[in-house]
Amino acid sequence: MARLIFITGGVVSSLGKGLASAALGALLQARGYRVRLRKLDPYLNVDPGTMSPFQHGEVYVTDDGAETDLDLGHYERFTGVAAKQSDNVTSGRIYSEVIAKERRGGYLGRTVQVIPHVTDAIKEFAMAGTDDLDFLLVEIGGTVGDIEGLPFFEAIRQLHNDLPRGQTAFVHLTLVPYIEAAGELKTKPTQHSVKELRAIGIQPDILLCRASHPIPEDERKKIALFCNVRPECVIPAMDLSTIYEAPAEYHRQGFDTEVLRVFGINDAPMPDLSRWDDVVSKVKNPEGEVRIAVVGKYISVKDSYKSLSEALTHGGLANNVKVHMDWIDSEIFERDDAAAFLENVHGILVPGGFGERGTRGKIAAVKFARERKVPFFGICYGLHMAVIEAARDMAALDNANSTEIDKETKHPVIGLMTEWVKGNRVEKRAEDGDMGGTMRLGAYTAALTPGSHVAQVYGATEISERHRHRYEVNTEYTGLLEKHGLVVSGWSPDHRLPEIMEIPDHPWFIGVQFHPELKSRPLEPHPLFSSFIEAAVAQSRLV
Ligand code: GLN
Repeated sequence: MARLIFITGGVVSSLGKGLASAALGALLQARGYRVRLRKLDPYLNVDPGTMSPFQHGEVYVTDDGAETDLDLGHYERFTGVAAKQSDNVTSGRIYSEVIAKERRGGYLGRTVQVIPHVTDAIKEFAMAGTDDLDFLLVEIGGTVGDIEGLPFFEAIRQLHNDLPRGQTAFVHLTLVPYIEAAGELKTKPTQHSVKELRAIGIQPDILLCRASHPIPEDERKKIALFCNVRPECVIPAMDLSTIYEAPAEYHRQGFDTEVLRVFGINDAPMPDLSRWDDVVSKVKNPEGEVRIAVVGKYISVKDSYKSLSEALTHGGLANNVKVHMDWIDSEIFERDDAAAFLENVHGILVPGGFGERGTRGKIAAVKFARERKVPFFGICYGLHMAVIEAARDMAALDNANSTEIDKETKHPVIGLMTEWVKGNRVEKRAEDGDMGGTMRLGAYTAALTPGSHVAQVYGATEISERHRHRYEVNTEYTGLLEKHGLVVSGWSPDHRLPEIMEIPDHPWFIGVQFHPELKSRPLEPHPLFSSFIEAAVAQSRLV
């Protein structure tokens, strides 16, 4: 049976709880344990799929088609374990299941209550399918004290009692702020946060303390004393220059050693962190730098393109260069000449997106990349923009558009497909259906044209990538586009849906219908990103 590690947060949000959890997962894995990470999110949305990236950051999509919290991306990138639908649940989902069961008469007339019915549903979710694991790490979203988080904290408190002694550990992440005027670190917020946790019956075993300055021994002892933990279990988590330092640094501070000790494990093999050390040394000692313009809509929120910025960095690791990202709001290109912003970049990437706003600017950026022969990478909506640009400028289809942008367009080069095949099942989506979970979601295979640029990049002719979109390239126009130089080089296995398009007569011009950034990992950079950055390096030698 899996041992459970619960990770909670206190004091403030945004302390990097997801990253800390992911790093702990990586450390346990580096010691040879089988791990999986899960996230329990207290908000009432059934899943983050309908939440704006401006509000919630990126929506991370799993192979099995779940729209999940972006922390699952951290988990995957750090452990290499593919996340699943069952690794993320929200209050919204828990409550809708409990209420549906109540409507079916599933509670046999009993009064349905938060305790035990909601907490039972949470516990059931947390524990499902964990038999083949050594450790299950469960992160609770939000911070202790949030009203909506209470049922989750109650559920993990109960689990600690339900399971045999020594099966669970509680890790609490807090902030130890540095007060400039006093020149001191302050432990009081941590004390209060732990007090809050203990008031609901949870005694943390380990405190991970985020701090901008080293925490002196005396302060560590003070935290230990007031929070009822051993001093060795107060782990300083200093700000790091790169997130990839987290596993090695946390290990140096004794994080994984103390967590294992909570379970009575004192003789675990030391973790092999050489691959992480290698990543860190590459990040710190790049041999050059390339500039990539990311032309998108949600650029004001750092987390809305989290996997994308990570994947670009991984592409840099594969080429020993630092990737400098210029995040450019595409609307800029609707006002000024695009050239001024793109003149000195070595690659242009148009990422995924939704809706009409900013699309004219994205199309202008594609045009610049195509005409000036700057490496171009279009992802999902970015592919759609490339197709629209090519239709208008190469194939002279005036006002060609996506029906997402102009329902009445004379040339719908991108349109809504109402059905497609997944495995041997036909999936349907309705034009006026619910917004939640109605997209083509999750992993689909694609067949690559032998000899094409993408087939070379992947070194394969069959691939699997993750999707999240409603619209598709309209095959009524692909023949014409191919004649003008934008060719389909990857198809769905039934040859009905174009998955990849490229311009062979261009140094690097590839648009993909899926989201390759979701599968890139620091220890295994995605081939498309490695190749795109390689092309940018070549471009940097030209300009
Ligand atoms: N808006 C487009 C669609 O729904 C693209 C989505 C995306 O880029 N993820 O098809």
